Amino acid sequence: MSSNALTIQQAHEGLVAKKFSAVELTEDCLSHIEKTDGALHAFLDVHASSALGRAKEVDEKIAKGLELKPLEGIPVAIKDNMLLAGTVTTAGSKILEAYVAPYDATVIIKLKAAGAIILGKTNMDDSAMGTTTESSAFGPTFNPWDITRIPGGSSGGSAAAVAANECIYALGSDTGGSIRQPAGMCGVVGLKPTYGAVSRYGLIAMSSSLDQIGPLTKSVEDAAIVFDAIKGSDIHDSSSRAAQEKPIHQIARQSISGMKIGLPKEYFIEGLDARIEKKIREACDVLHDVGAEIIDISLPHAPYALSAYYIICPAEISANFSRLDGIRYGYSAKDARNLSETYCRSREEGLGTEVRRRIMLGSYVLAAGYYDAYYKKAQAVRQMVRRDFDNAFRTVDCIVSPTSPTPAFRIGEKISDPLTLYLEDIFTVSANMAGIPGLVVPAGFVEEGGVSLPVGLQLLGRHFDEETILCAGYAYEQATDWHTRKSPLS
Ligand code: GLN
Repeated sequence: MSSNALTIQQAHEGLVAKKFSAVELTEDCLSHIEKTDGALHAFLDVHASSALGRAKEVDEKIAKGLELKPLEGIPVAIKDNMLLAGTVTTAGSKILEAYVAPYDATVIIKLKAAGAIILGKTNMDDSAMGTTTESSAFGPTFNPWDITRIPGGSSGGSAAAVAANECIYALGSDTGGSIRQPAGMCGVVGLKPTYGAVSRYGLIAMSSSLDQIGPLTKSVEDAAIVFDAIKGSDIHDSSSRAAQEKPIHQIARQSISGMKIGLPKEYFIEGLDARIEKKIREACDVLHDVGAEIIDISLPHAPYALSAYYIICPAEISANFSRLDGIRYGYSAKDARNLSETYCRSREEGLGTEVRRRIMLGSYVLAAGYYDAYYKKAQAVRQMVRRDFDNAFRTVDCIVSPTSPTPAFRIGEKISDPLTLYLEDIFTVSANMAGIPGLVVPAGFVEEGGVSLPVGLQLLGRHFDEETILCAGYAYEQATDWHTRKSPLS
């Protein structure tokens, strides 16, 4: 097995045992990117020389016999909406095509301090709005299990890069499912931490009350290792909190005997692919076999979460995106004759169709005459969704559900039908609305047209209790071998 196929934990052990050097590990990733990314298009930018330079420094440290931190010398890919000083950061958008990040995001500062080797930036839906990575201004990413299909989105580049072993792990962002849904569709692990558990400073904001950064990895233990490295409060993000000081990745191995896991009846609905439902129910049997108690629960307001999300999220987008005015940042329309034409044409030419749709929707629901009818009501629904979870967590320790209602579909199949696409988010948005953490782990495959398409199991937990869902995910992973299956492009 070539070293790029390893998990963080395995690569760390390999470096410590001097089975390979950090330069060799990085070279294996880079040459695999070279070989596969023509077909995959997971990367927007590869930083080969800086990655090799950093790897060399780590090797010097190893040569001196110094102890290695868990992420030291391990190659990572970063979603292109996180600022990496001195490099182009596009957020998948034409309007930021030539935007050079002036500083490092807090997660980047933390990863650099942890000794990570940054391989480059990954593709994503334009401004993180989407579920397929097809709306990227730079062309779609393809699913490594079947390159005629979408990898999910908006962190599709990060998920595909991990599933294809182009990197050891990646960072993504999740506003309504953008880490978890592509993780599910590409057969990797994805963790959306609690809102506030990881600093958003230097993340190009989409919807500030919902956005969160998290890892995409090849194992649950790896997700815990990365979370430990990036979590914590940050003076630059007033919504961040230092809730868990202790490292979680050692605890994630604990037994889940006696753990109470809720199965919400509202998540098994019309529109859920019967094959996916079967996989989720089978996963519950596995969790039961390893000691958990599965309890039927109800989240009565779950059916309203998606509609409320598609009001709150565009409302925040319309406010956040006013900064992209063709003057302060990024693209500016050529030959505009006055200020108002500069604004209008820069936004029209620079922002993608979905981004413009959401700005219009958001401006509408915030307008004086409609605020009470839409925005205020959606905020009330948000509170009810949150209360449903609070109530459920009085009886259960975590909740299981499908990640998305369908497996990966074909490129082009749904892109012209925004409403159908929004429905893909039905199982993921509630966690963002409530601010709770969500973990997705590989839970099997459905067969379609001669190819195997991954299915993800979602585990939701209490605020700042990543520990419980990581324990449950780890126990499930140990009892199954789905995470060891390799995509054809790996
Ligand atoms: N698919 C959802 C949306 O388009 C979520 C996106 C995200 O999490 N960034 O809003």
